[in-house]
Amino acid sequence: MSTPAGVLRFLHVIENLKRTKRTGWVDNKIGDAESISDHMHRMGVLALLINDKSLDRTKCIKMAIVHDLAESIAGDITPHSGVSKEEKFRLEKEGMDEVVRHLDSSPEALEIRSLWTEYEEATTEEALYVKDLDKFEMIVQAFEYEKRHNMKLDTFYASTEGKFRHPTVRKWVEELYREREQLHADLK
Ligand code: ZN
Repeated sequence: MSTPAGVLRFLHVIENLKRTKRTGWVDNKIGDAESISDHMHRMGVLALLINDKSLDRTKCIKMAIVHDLAESIAGDITPHSGVSKEEKFRLEKEGMDEVVRHLDSSPEALEIRSLWTEYEEATTEEALYVKDLDKFEMIVQAFEYEKRHNMKLDTFYASTEGKFRHPTVRKWVEELYREREQLHADLK
């Protein structure tokens, strides 16, 4: 078990996730950009909607709420940040190791790191499903900003197009595309 001081250290570090606005939105000059925590929370809620017996639902929920935890230390590095994929992974891996140290390397801390690693390696069905949720949550958010600010955020859709694997998520994506088409037809 982590010590009370360790738990507090950990909470103070992950507070960064509440204060860090996601880079993709900031780069697009969105004033009311959501935080990394906002994004992970809605993914966790989305993971609750899993209706696929072949997936470990609890694991997906846990993975969703920790998958960006390393960003509390490494920051939100995007493909446009000028940092290579390898360097990004290295920085985030170091971040996760630091998180584990803050929590006194307790079994719970090791579980958090193992969930994060599984997500990053994307070799299990659960990790691939949560990766789908990550992209889907992002384009839903993009749609909400488009609607609120009367703008177009095409690059977010282009970067995820054709990359969704799970049939349920694909159906959600199709519906979102329909709603988006309607929105932009109405705006014209
Ligand atoms: Zn994410």
